[in-house]
Amino acid sequence: STIPKIVILGAGYGGILTAQRLQKELNYNEADVTLVNRHDYHYFTTHLHMPAAGTDSIEHTRVQISKLIDEFKIDLVKSNVQEIRLADKKVVLQDGTLSYDYLIIALGGEPESFGIPGLAEYAMTIRSINSVRLIRQHIEYQFALYKTDESRKDRLNFVVGGAGFSGIEFVAELADRIPQLCKDYDVDPNLVNIYNVEAAPTALPGFDPALVEYAMNVLRKKNVQFKIGVAIKECTPDGVLLATGEEIKSATVVWTGGIRGNRLIEAAGFETARGRVKIDDYLHAPAHDNVFIIGDNSLMFNAEGRPYPPTAQIAMQQGVVCAQNVVASIRGKELKKFIFSNKGTVASLGKGEAVASAFGKTYTGWVAAQLKKVVDIRYLFTIGGIPLVLKKGRFL
Ligand code: FAD
Repeated sequence: STIPKIVILGAGYGGILTAQRLQKELNYNEADVTLVNRHDYHYFTTHLHMPAAGTDSIEHTRVQISKLIDEFKIDLVKSNVQEIRLADKKVVLQDGTLSYDYLIIALGGEPESFGIPGLAEYAMTIRSINSVRLIRQHIEYQFALYKTDESRKDRLNFVVGGAGFSGIEFVAELADRIPQLCKDYDVDPNLVNIYNVEAAPTALPGFDPALVEYAMNVLRKKNVQFKIGVAIKECTPDGVLLATGEEIKSATVVWTGGIRGNRLIEAAGFETARGRVKIDDYLHAPAHDNVFIIGDNSLMFNAEGRPYPPTAQIAMQQGVVCAQNVVASIRGKELKKFIFSNKGTVASLGKGEAVASAFGKTYTGWVAAQLKKVVDIRYLFTIGGIPLVLKKGRFL
């Protein structure tokens, strides 16, 4: 047929928003849209630190994609993307091939280990439903194992590499979970150590220094031990070696210290910086007006020439404009420039605590924690309306 084929790779923040907007804006039979994702559910990456620590359920963190899109309008393909063949305009899946006229790459990022020996082998990452389920069960298992051999106190040491957004949010949830675990497993809380190791000179880089200070104080009160400005030199089956020469013995290392673009993208032949592709104002991949790259795999610069950090917020906004630009391309209309509108940032610090900067102001404590809930609930509303808010929202 002559109907253009649109293929969207990835049903994360960017991919879902693109799919929903396309289904809204396209006329009947104007295009064939296919959405490819490795799972049949969409997960809230920004919420993964909670099921990772065990402070919230997996089911609050994902939703079936079929509940978010109209399957009469969009073909949902549950498969793994294995290769993007730009020259042939084809995508190779684990179980077939798709051809496209327009391609949207929204595959999300991958953990970056910066070549630190042992990290890829021995550290766990907060990345998907499967990866956080492992972290949660692994932590509980260490408590159970400790009770079979109380000489192994290192089983009660937990190391989190990276004190950026996800590292801080996870460490806070873990600190909240420890008292309950100690109770359940009959363990003295004084034996538990949580270390947060960060190579950069500050935690939460990019945040207002007063907020960083506030956040660290909240977490110190929850018994988090910070090692800031200290690099992890190596990760081993027994723990981590630090640049200071110190060793922390631990059976649990969670790495949140870096993110890079999906490796499929450099394999496709794009020039990348840490796996991310510099896109133009219309979200096009270089030299390919029929290929759009959004979310964690794209690289865009602000007016000062600094790259925007990869966030759900920018991925969603890009998804909306991407859909408009694909439709405009099909109709031969003028494309729209993407302009990021920063709605602010909230980092949760566990139950009832957070730091936020929004509307040119900073917020801490209960108010910031409420802002976090508003952000979460607004997202659920955006993609699934009131029913999804009622089903997955957390109000308490
Ligand atoms: P993702 O949302 O990662 O989606 C990618 C999708 O592609 C996934 O569904 C994945 O399964 C699928 N996929 C990947 N590879 C393949 C393949 N080969 N084949 C098929 N499917 C594949 N950002 C904020 O703005 N605010 C926050 O508060 C915030 N908190 C965060 C907290 C944590 C713990 C973490 C880890 C991240 C946080 N972020 C936050 C960052 C945010 O989650 C990401 O920037 C965002 O998810 C990027 O969206 P995306 O669409 O590019 O990719």
